[in-house]
Amino acid sequence: MKSELSNLIELQKTDTKLRQLKENIETATTRRAELQDEFEQHASSIREIQNRLAAAKETKADLERQIIEAKTSHERADRNLKTAQDQKQYEAAMREIDSLDRQISKFETEVLEQLEIIDEVNGVLEERKEEIANLESDWEKTLADFESSLATDRKEFDKMSKARDRVLSSLPERLAAVYDRLVSRSRDGIAVAEVINGACSACFMSLRKQIVVELRTTNEIITCESCTRILFVNSDEHQEATAS
Ligand SMILES: [Zn+2]
Repeated sequence: MKSELSNLIELQKTDTKLRQLKENIETATTRRAELQDEFEQHASSIREIQNRLAAAKETKADLERQIIEAKTSHERADRNLKTAQDQKQYEAAMREIDSLDRQISKFETEVLEQLEIIDEVNGVLEERKEEIANLESDWEKTLADFESSLATDRKEFDKMSKARDRVLSSLPERLAAVYDRLVSRSRDGIAVAEVINGACSACFMSLRKQIVVELRTTNEIITCESCTRILFVNSDEHQEATAS
């Protein structure tokens, strides 16, 4: 009986692990897609910063071209002013010079604004230089780690499935059937529950003192009166409770 109970406990541990591995394997596609999304978002946030820099540089170059054009017009207006034949021509040249001065000054202010943006964005890019340089290789490593951990899970799953079959076939048929029924009936896949602090650790129902005593002193298979799971007491329960 004692070995049957320890086989049941082992079976439960194996099944709990198998359940976790199955979940990992079944959700792999979704989890991989989530990682991919995260990476895309990260990469796109960096592209956004780089685009901001390119846009500021382009705007600045455009403004500088406009300044050169305005200065050329200014020189022409200066010549017109000197060669003005009458008051009307003189005033027209003066007006144009005024207007071009205002334009040039406005463009120059705008160039300074763009320079500030360029400085700021360059600062951000400098701060994140390593992260940006390693973006691709970091992603490849993340993906490789993911695939390797998935491959390990698959191998472990196959290995433990075989171990499960071995333990199950070593149990009396009746007990194996009880176990299987309990496992498939419970949502958490727990058929064998440890007694912790006098309560069933699966349904948290406090057990009658007599049951706990029987569990400690006999090798009988005893089930929880509330959830019908097979109960066991861990002999190092006290140490484990203190350790955790
Ligand atoms: Zn219970």
